[in-house]
Amino acid sequence: MINAASRLRAGYMLALLMLLLNLSVPWLGSGWVSRAESRLDWQRHVITESELTLSALKDGETGQRGFVISGRDDFLAPLFQGYVDVDQRLKFFHAEFADDPQLAPMVAQLQILVQQQREYFQSVIELRRREGISAVTDRIAAGEGKRLMDGLRRQLGEISGVLEHRAGGFQAAVEQRERVLSMAVTLIALLDVLILLMLFFFTFRIIRETQQSERHLQEITERLSREVQISQLRNREISLLSLMAQALHSTSDQAECRDIIARFATQLFPHKQGSLFLYHPSRDVLEKAISWGDWSSDRDLFRPDACWALRRGQSHLMQQAAQDLICPHQHDHPQLEQGYLCVPLMAQGEPIGLLSLESPDRHGCELAEAFAEQLSLGIANLSLRETLRQQSVIDALTGLHNRRFLDETLRRELLRATRKDGSVAVAMLDVDHFKRFNDSYGHEAGDLVLRQVALEMKSHVRASDLVCRFGGEEFALVLPEIAFDDAVARCEALRLAVSRLQVRYGGKPLGAITISLGLAFFPQHGREGEALLQLADGALYRAKNQGRNRLCIHTEQGSASGQDGRQSRVDESAV
Ligand code: GH3
Ligand code: MG
Ligand code: MG
Repeated sequence: MINAASRLRAGYMLALLMLLLNLSVPWLGSGWVSRAESRLDWQRHVITESELTLSALKDGETGQRGFVISGRDDFLAPLFQGYVDVDQRLKFFHAEFADDPQLAPMVAQLQILVQQQREYFQSVIELRRREGISAVTDRIAAGEGKRLMDGLRRQLGEISGVLEHRAGGFQAAVEQRERVLSMAVTLIALLDVLILLMLFFFTFRIIRETQQSERHLQEITERLSREVQISQLRNREISLLSLMAQALHSTSDQAECRDIIARFATQLFPHKQGSLFLYHPSRDVLEKAISWGDWSSDRDLFRPDACWALRRGQSHLMQQAAQDLICPHQHDHPQLEQGYLCVPLMAQGEPIGLLSLESPDRHGCELAEAFAEQLSLGIANLSLRETLRQQSVIDALTGLHNRRFLDETLRRELLRATRKDGSVAVAMLDVDHFKRFNDSYGHEAGDLVLRQVALEMKSHVRASDLVCRFGGEEFALVLPEIAFDDAVARCEALRLAVSRLQVRYGGKPLGAITISLGLAFFPQHGREGEALLQLADGALYRAKNQGRNRLCIHTEQGSASGQDGRQSRVDESAV
């Protein structure tokens, strides 16, 4: 491009130069030729002068002859006129050829001959006047006059010959200059054509290159704008993924987690259907957790080995049903021909679920994998948080809920009971003389006793009831929506069941295990959780004081033992 432009510039400079040549060469050339023509014209003029000299000599001779024949003086006029003319021309020749080494001697010789002829004429004229025509006839007959005239003719002929020869040279010079000029003009014309062609060539080349550059520039602009659009799309996808990761990180609720995933999936894959499957806790089957678009027709449940992605532990893309492997869980999908992508969700090397997406393109595959990675992290974090939360409210030894959970739940249950105008029974339990198990059989035996008591408690309550380890060998029971008599009966049944336990440790029986219980009721005895627990604990304290292995119920006057304030019947076998 730069080369062509500089060549074009050089071409225009050359064209300008040629224009100057076009103007100057004919002008200078014509001056040059006309100078040669002037010399030729002058030469011809000199030749004419030479011829006129001969003519004047002839006129003079004729006048002299006429005088000789007639004897009349008026015949001498042409002779004298001839003298004047010849003198004039001789003077011209002298001046013209003064420095001419060839012609100057010839002119001098002509001068001598003219002088001799005049002397001859003078003597003939005088003789004619003096002695008459007969005397002159002899003189003329002697031939001197003819010889002089022949000499003059010859001399002038030689001069004319030299002049003619020179004129020929000038003529040749004129013709040569004309040829040179004509050649120069032709050459310039050719150069003009050449430069014009060159200018055309470079101009069209520049136009072509400019058009190409414009096209190229347009392509670059379009490509850049496409790339900017793609980059904006990618930025949006990255920010959506990041927002989703933050949202997943900030939720601890499974339903909310699913809602978040569905919302972001529809934004990230706006025209693609898809589903998210998660492992069932049993890990032998995957369940559909979410689907978006119209992907409702795929299976809700399938075994892990029904997916190539889960089998191989990597993404599986099916594009052509005739060639690619088809996952069994997708076999009966109505849009199978469109292709699909399965991406396993992995957490710490273990599959936790599967992302299934309809016919993604290359970028769609990459995005789906990034999406699956964020899902894996989010879901794994949620599970971890759930596990931690569980751990924070579950007692590790017995598997019962701990005191923290009791506080939260009791408050909730009391609120609900207040709303529904219901009742809640709160019981405190303590293993009697538990220290003895530790002291007699060791700490682990004591742990075993605690676990057995916990199991017994769980088996004696309803699914909606709450069993907690309150601390050490103390437990709490929360029985919502229960009648007074039912609560007492359940506590009694539990006390009896524990007293009948036969626990062995290291092959040895640990002996009888008994528990004491204290019971308080909402709303009769109190409305606050903490107060109810204290009242139940007070009743338990009294059960201990009254001899253990019994149930005491809180009364305003003091704790009553057993139903209706009576001491519960002590199982004989437990004592
Ligand atoms: P009481 O009938 O008056 O309740 O007598 P007790 O021996 O059951 O009560 P005490 O408060 O004297 O002793 C409770 C013991 O329980 C003391 C403690 O070392 C033991 N203990 C507390 N937590 C655990 C536990 O998790 N495992 C075991 N093995 N022992 C525990
Ligand atoms: Mg205790
Ligand atoms: Mg105790």
